[in-house]
Amino acid sequence: MASISLKGVTKIFGGKKAANQITFDVADREFLVLLGPSGCGKSTLLRMLAGLEQVTSGEVHVGARRVDTLPPSARDMAFVFQSYALYPHMTVRRNITFPLIMREHRWWFHLPLIGGIAKRRIEQTPAVRDLVERTARTLALTEMLDQYPRTLSGGQRQRVALGRAMVRQPDVFLMDEPLSNLDAKLRTSMRAEIIKLHREVGGTFVYVTHDQIEAMTMGTRIALMRDGVVQQFGTPREIYTDPANTFVARFIGTPPMNLIEARIEPRGLVIGKAVLPLPGHLAALGQQAARDVLLGIRPHALGLGNGVLAGQVALVEHVGAESIVSIKLDHANTAHSDDGESGDDVMVVVQGYSDLRAGQPVHLSLDLGEAVLFERDGQRIRVPALSRAA
Ligand code: ATP
Repeated sequence: MASISLKGVTKIFGGKKAANQITFDVADREFLVLLGPSGCGKSTLLRMLAGLEQVTSGEVHVGARRVDTLPPSARDMAFVFQSYALYPHMTVRRNITFPLIMREHRWWFHLPLIGGIAKRRIEQTPAVRDLVERTARTLALTEMLDQYPRTLSGGQRQRVALGRAMVRQPDVFLMDEPLSNLDAKLRTSMRAEIIKLHREVGGTFVYVTHDQIEAMTMGTRIALMRDGVVQQFGTPREIYTDPANTFVARFIGTPPMNLIEARIEPRGLVIGKAVLPLPGHLAALGQQAARDVLLGIRPHALGLGNGVLAGQVALVEHVGAESIVSIKLDHANTAHSDDGESGDDVMVVVQGYSDLRAGQPVHLSLDLGEAVLFERDGQRIRVPALSRAA
């Protein structure tokens, strides 16, 4: 069993909290993605799991064992780094076999002649050869076993790094941005490889990235972090459809969710000069006191044509099958962050090649079926369950 449990894990570097009271549980065989912008503390959290960084306070448990007091070697976790960290003077075979050699390490392994013979002997043990060759087959590295890392492409090197983690047959795989040195095409194929690996090898995966597409496609659950704090912990779908605040709402989804200043009144949702009926899931709010809100609506839920919100086209971007149209609203403001500061234009995604030109007047229609509301400070407004049923 390799469930992972974090209890109030905190890391302070020189007075600054890189990780602040982090508490969550990861189930056995889950693929957890730690996601967030640069500097949010995701690598620090991963390194604390691995034992490469000490926790300042809090506890880390794997299965029934408390591990935060144990050295990395006693944690049964394999770490895959962004930089591959292969040994350049060793063949692919020796790189992959290396953790198995280290398991039987003796001081005289350092002696040139005797050490060399001992390492080769371990490498040629039938069980070791079999495991290494099976791993190489899984990762399509069989042809390259006798090559050196310098002769391999970035993707092949990262597969060797994965192989080295796999032969340890650990309970937990920890990966820190393993694909970020690869070009876009290779990243997509390696993404699929790692998902397959997780399915085939089992084990619990914890994977750090700042790339929301990686997080959405690979994770069974995502911990989205900012400034050392987990903003939301949930499945990719929950995080996309039910964001906890405007930071989460804007971090996930391309183009990001639109935030439009609005007001809830008994007569409906007021945006600039327009009044829209509240959809069923928000209707209960109409019975409460009038309040200022931010309307969160995805670009796909907006349409151009006979809409109620007047604006002007600011920019049209053609991205293959779709066009992204940016629109400056005439009578309403948008926000682009949780400080409520007014910012970006409204983004609309339309199918096909849009012939709209900058400066053209348009009218936006809104499908509020999946819209969400936030306080002006960015916190999500939850509609009371009782009223929702009404
Ligand atoms: P990136 O995606 O850029 O790697 P990250 O989310 O992984 O970012 P961390 O590397 O965990 O972020 O860093 C979190 C914060 O802790 C940052 O402000 C960083 O400067 C700080 N930090 C990390 N390691 C150390 C260290 N060894 N000493 C001092 N400060 C550190």
